[in-house]
Amino acid sequence: MQPLEQTIDWYKKHISEGFLNLVSFLGFDAVEIEAQGCEVKTSDGRVLLDFLGSFGALNFGHRHPRIVGAVQEGLGRMGASSKVLLNGDQAALAARLAACAPPGLSYSFFSNSGTEAVEAGIKFARAKKGRPGILFTENAYHGKSMGALSAAGREKFRAPFEPLLSGFRPLPFGDANALEDALGGGDLPAAFLVEPIQGEAGIRVPPEGYLRDVRRMTKEAGVLLIVDEVQTGLGRTGRCFAVDWEDVSPDILCIAKSLGGGLIPMGATMTTEDVWSIFDENPLLHSSTLGGNHLACVAALAALEVLEEESLAEKAWARGCQLLEGLRRLDSPLVKEIRGKGLMVGVEFAEEDIAGLVITALAGKGIMAAYTLNNPEVIRLEPPLTVSEEQVHRFLKVWEEALNGTSEILTGLGM
Ligand code: PMP
Repeated sequence: MQPLEQTIDWYKKHISEGFLNLVSFLGFDAVEIEAQGCEVKTSDGRVLLDFLGSFGALNFGHRHPRIVGAVQEGLGRMGASSKVLLNGDQAALAARLAACAPPGLSYSFFSNSGTEAVEAGIKFARAKKGRPGILFTENAYHGKSMGALSAAGREKFRAPFEPLLSGFRPLPFGDANALEDALGGGDLPAAFLVEPIQGEAGIRVPPEGYLRDVRRMTKEAGVLLIVDEVQTGLGRTGRCFAVDWEDVSPDILCIAKSLGGGLIPMGATMTTEDVWSIFDENPLLHSSTLGGNHLACVAALAALEVLEEESLAEKAWARGCQLLEGLRRLDSPLVKEIRGKGLMVGVEFAEEDIAGLVITALAGKGIMAAYTLNNPEVIRLEPPLTVSEEQVHRFLKVWEEALNGTSEILTGLGM
């Protein structure tokens, strides 16, 4: 590998100087050279404890040995698919997903990312209902392709790309009455698109019963429910899917991030048989060349096995309780609110700059963390679900030191 200076120079000249400056400011100006489980080694000899987990995409940790083994075995026989012969790995994955997803979601379309999974969900809903409207929630994050971005909450990400798709309308998150009012008018939308817990908005947990109400209302109105579990899915909140907490079965379910086992890009859009009827006349109505390739499916199958056999949802719940309790015990005036479910935890600060100082302090003490994308006042804590009790304990100790250090800096500045 080239020296650090060379990598920095190439980032400046060929990737993004802005990104380089941002991560350097936060204390991440080193090259990652090796990762395993919850730890990442850097070129300057540090070992960082990963509480960012690639923005919630590492439920199984870095290079889980079982998933690595499955991909190595798969690589020994197939890579990309011929696309005309049958892909047995994809069939096995679709069947496995149908068995663990909420009832009724029996079909899967495979892509390569979260935004593609949502994009497909929006397209399927429009095609099924034959009308364009999509209701979404304020501050939502569904990805950055044009359809998913049309349901995005942050102006900073939307503005340069206007006009986005027409027919999209935001509603307050967690407010079932607002949805009821919106569905009461004459002009019905095709679907309501929602995250069970808003991730990038700052880890926002809706009131209990919200998803159940939303399911009932959309069903009664004849409107499809698209649930985006790209971040909440696969054990993160303490259940396989976050909708499982309320026994809700959406019409369309979007998953990605950890689905590729932390190794291969992978997204899936699951639907009911009813929605899937849009493919009856043309099975290539929506398609992706590399989506659902052998390696991605082999990784996802192994990931689902690991999720079940290592009881990772239950572990996420136990470690999440430990983390939330530990954070709440540390009473700091800098912290505005602590919230979350399972290992999807957010800490809100009064100001973006304070959150930035805490992230920098954590990095200096060997912990990786970052903001939520639509709300830089919130630090997200989403370690791999394999994180140990001792690692959570270690994190909490460093967190306390980082808060104290930040308080001292602010006092020194007279703030
Ligand atoms: N949906 C949700 C809920 C997400 O959190 C994200 C990513 N943060 C996406 C969609 C987009 O995923 P990707 O970056 O893989 O396109």
